Amino acid sequence: MSSPVVSAGGVTPTGTPTAMPVTVKFTDLGLSAPLLRAVAETGYTTPTPIQAQGIPLVLKGGDLLAAAQTGTGKTAGFTLPILHRLTDKPLTPKPGRPRCLILVPTRELAAQVEESVRTYGKYVDVKSMVMFGGVNINPQYAALRGRVDILVATPGRLLDHVGQKTVDLSGIEILVLDEADRMLDMGFIRDIKKVIALVPKKRQTLLYSATFSDEIKALANGLLDHPGSIEVARRNTASELVEQSVHLVQQGHKKDLLAHLIRQHNWQQVLVFTRTKHGANKLAEKLIKENIPAAAIHGNKSQGARTRALAQFKDGTLQVLVATDIAARGIDIDQLPQVVNFELPNVPEDYVHRIGRTGRAGSAGAAVSLVDAEEMGYLRDIERLIKRGIARVEVDGFVPPPTPVGAPLDRDERPPRQGRGGGGQGRGQPRGQSHGQPRVQADARPAGARPAADGNRAGTGSAPRNPQRNAPRHGPAAATGAPTPNRRESHNRPRAALLSAKPAKTDR
Ligand code: AMP
Repeated sequence: MSSPVVSAGGVTPTGTPTAMPVTVKFTDLGLSAPLLRAVAETGYTTPTPIQAQGIPLVLKGGDLLAAAQTGTGKTAGFTLPILHRLTDKPLTPKPGRPRCLILVPTRELAAQVEESVRTYGKYVDVKSMVMFGGVNINPQYAALRGRVDILVATPGRLLDHVGQKTVDLSGIEILVLDEADRMLDMGFIRDIKKVIALVPKKRQTLLYSATFSDEIKALANGLLDHPGSIEVARRNTASELVEQSVHLVQQGHKKDLLAHLIRQHNWQQVLVFTRTKHGANKLAEKLIKENIPAAAIHGNKSQGARTRALAQFKDGTLQVLVATDIAARGIDIDQLPQVVNFELPNVPEDYVHRIGRTGRAGSAGAAVSLVDAEEMGYLRDIERLIKRGIARVEVDGFVPPPTPVGAPLDRDERPPRQGRGGGGQGRGQPRGQSHGQPRVQADARPAGARPAADGNRAGTGSAPRNPQRNAPRHGPAAATGAPTPNRRESHNRPRAALLSAKPAKTDR
């Protein structure tokens, strides 16, 4: 590979490598010529830190514990040395008896990891297979009747096959748990333990996780034998490459504001996060009505629909992909320019995962969050986590459509209730008290953006639809970020009318 630069250690918050005075090239890592050829064809010039550090470790055959988020290049970091090891010790496995098992939490991630195996394994004699639920099982039976060296699987469908004896895990030489934290979050711990009991004790095990809870540590302790450890992603920090901003807007105006933003900025490829599946559907429908090509992906969609939407989004025919957190987990698009948080996640770490979908592998990206008064607590939790303020930015030229007084609240437009942690706002905390929060910093503001006052002024407002119902539940208006009189706004544009309402069900 060309230009020696970068590597080892320096990492931006989503794990993107930063220049360090260590010179590592792909050719230094000990990978075989056919693998280097495939890497060269992808256009990568230098290994990312997880690759520079992890590949030699995995090649030596030891176990590995890696703290790495998506976007760090971790997939190539384990796929390349696995392909090397398998081809270094060639062996034709019996049908349905793979040599390597890569366990992942979601279907999308499974499909992408297996695609990476095919990409990097283009010039070596290795057969791979992907296995997940929600699709016809017959093609999987057929594939398992043939040779499979590397099996990429989600735990549930894998255990279905184990139960039917269509797959045999007794030949596993290398086991990878990818995004182990997510697998635990999704309740896969029992399935994982069942799988571990089925694979040989003597094996190489690699565990990748973005975060290290006690549960992950316990899993790693029981699973890994004197592992090498790598940490390329600092936990709980947000990417310095991602330009982050917030538009304060009442929940009921978010759809219109989003359509306005897409047109105003001419966003051609935007990934939008909603908290609920139903919310994702409704938002996609609204955008389509506005002649903006959009589709929703989430767990209730058929795998075919999800794959189609993702493919169209990747090739640029679909402008907007609306996704829930889990569905978006495996989405890997190089240089995705724009992420929108239609609602903030109630778990602040999810914000970091979401914005990590942009600004990947060294490219710049932007993340905009549409925040209702009820979500101010979440916003503060996020700012506390990422240790910086996110600029509140006014939107020029957006006038929300009038809403009939007394119109019923759409259940799915309702923002979440202040949850776990929930920050200070919404509990009667006087405006201006920061609770140790960083104030919005000038340098957190996107270039050319005008700052808006904390707590209101999205440039979004007609009057609340139902003033009584919408009155803030906690404390004075100012404390919930509800509008306060502002001379400039009052003659320039309608004030933001921030709602207080009941939560929508979260179905991530
Ligand atoms: P991952 O963390 O495995 O999801 O990878 C994130 C993105 O980084 C993927 O789109 C890869 O194609 C890309 N990538 C992986 N390795 C490199 C590299 N050495 N240089 C540039 N991009 C890379």
